[in-house]
Amino acid sequence: MEIVSIRSFMPTAARKPADWRGWMGQICVRLETDEGQVGYGMGGGGEAGMHVIDTVLRGVLEKADPTPIEDLWEEMFSATLAFGRKGLAIMAISAVDLALWDLRAKAKDTTVAHLLSEQPTARLPMYRTISKDADPNRWLGQIEQALAEGYEAVKIGGLGQMDPTTDADAIVDMMRQARRVSGDIRLMADVGMRWQDVDAVAALCHRLAEVDLGWLEEPLPADDLDGYARLAATSPVPIAGGEHEFTARGFAELMARGAHHIYQPDVCWCGGLTQLLEIYRLARTHHVQVCPHRGSEAWSLPALQTVDPSPLAESGRPWMAWVGGARWADAHVEASARRGFGVDEQALENSTSPD
Ligand SMILES: [Mg+2]
Repeated sequence: MEIVSIRSFMPTAARKPADWRGWMGQICVRLETDEGQVGYGMGGGGEAGMHVIDTVLRGVLEKADPTPIEDLWEEMFSATLAFGRKGLAIMAISAVDLALWDLRAKAKDTTVAHLLSEQPTARLPMYRTISKDADPNRWLGQIEQALAEGYEAVKIGGLGQMDPTTDADAIVDMMRQARRVSGDIRLMADVGMRWQDVDAVAALCHRLAEVDLGWLEEPLPADDLDGYARLAATSPVPIAGGEHEFTARGFAELMARGAHHIYQPDVCWCGGLTQLLEIYRLARTHHVQVCPHRGSEAWSLPALQTVDPSPLAESGRPWMAWVGGARWADAHVEASARRGFGVDEQALENSTSPD
């Protein structure tokens, strides 16, 4: 079997954000073999990511046997090493890696999850991500709505708009309100890399312990490993991060430094399923948890269904629903029984024309 066609495209879909996440723009890859099998994957990097695929990765993939995915991954990593290693080159490789896994499963006429386990878990609990905005009635109402829908975990995003030094009282007060409304379900908070002062964040974490936070996500910039190691060593609140880290090599360094308690790789950015599986393996040896970013979307779901000891899938982005491969209902995600990642191929192809 050999790859005879490689095509990258930028999907468009109803309800997508206006900039399709701008510089992290979602891209699709379609691979076709001489036996007529077609595999799809999704990555990031926008037009620049597509350029990496069309110019550099094409040289690795053309006429290659798609079967040894792990070897092809190393070849793609090596081919982009001088300008890649992290960021959009790895986001581009992620799309190809996922398309190769889609092909691997389809060649065996099965799902990706069934490649990894004879008995993948079909239905997993989700947590709902809620964006805090200025109007407390709105975001607190969204927590109430999540509770009514049966969610047992919610995450409040947008804390990074407030300052951990000057707004500390307001942040604690806000999370007290969130705790009051959410009752005794799991409650998490996301800063989005916006805080810098490690001592101020550490002091705030001690104050936030009273609201029993499940985790505080990305309080510091992704590269502040010294800061993260210092914070994670003393924080009574578990520290989560890794949404903006790349490859198992990158996560191995974070784990060796004790940067986080919970790691959140995004399979469409971190290097694909090949890397996500290795990150799960590393996490087992370091006795830390993995909770993938956007975990309920089709691409990371097979890992949560099979190698995750306590899966909790992040609610999917609404603009990703068109991809299919998973059904979101009743605060749970149900995996598709369709081959590969189970994505809706027709919807993916149609998405190439503007909606
Ligand atoms: Mg986040």
